[in-house]
Amino acid sequence: RAQTQTQTSPGYVPDSKFYKVEAILRPWRVPQVSSALLKMGIRGVTVSDVRGFGAQGGSTERQGGSEFSEDKFVAKIKMEIVVSKDQVEAVIDKIIREARTGEIGDGKIFLVPVSDVIRVRTGERGEQAERMAGGRADTSVPA
Ligand code: ATP
Ligand code: GLN
Repeated sequence: RAQTQTQTSPGYVPDSKFYKVEAILRPWRVPQVSSALLKMGIRGVTVSDVRGFGAQGGSTERQGGSEFSEDKFVAKIKMEIVVSKDQVEAVIDKIIREARTGEIGDGKIFLVPVSDVIRVRTGERGEQAERMAGGRADTSVPA
């Protein structure tokens, strides 16, 4: 049975200060995921409408979302969340908890090292750029 909790602190390779958690999810689960992330002090999230196929193949969503049975692609949402290394597992756990149905098509999460974060408005880089107003530093929500 798939676990709803991931293992803690694997030695990510390559090592990086920041990682992008890239999650391909069922569209109708995204509001739950994003509000849970917001509650834990995650303020920066990017979402895109994407289409794909995996084990779910061409079978369409039964609970909403656009159907793409002709070309075998299923509508999904890609969520991209850049966080510091010590927030990665909490974010992954939260996504799994809120997005999982246990059925084929729940999606997949990719973890990508990020070299730097640059805030366009100020030119800040690194930790200062990654830190968000209303984020962990402000809300003292544990990672
Ligand atoms: P500012 O303080 O200038 O508002 P900011 O760092 O809060 O800067 P925004 O300019 O508000 O960033 O963000 C623009 C867009 O960048 C957001 O709408 C979101 O799509 C994306 N984004 C920002 N931070 C992150 C992050 N940590 N992970 C993923 N996407 C992010
Ligand atoms: N790590 C940032 C903070 O605690 C939040 C990062 C994010 O919102 N993606 O402020």
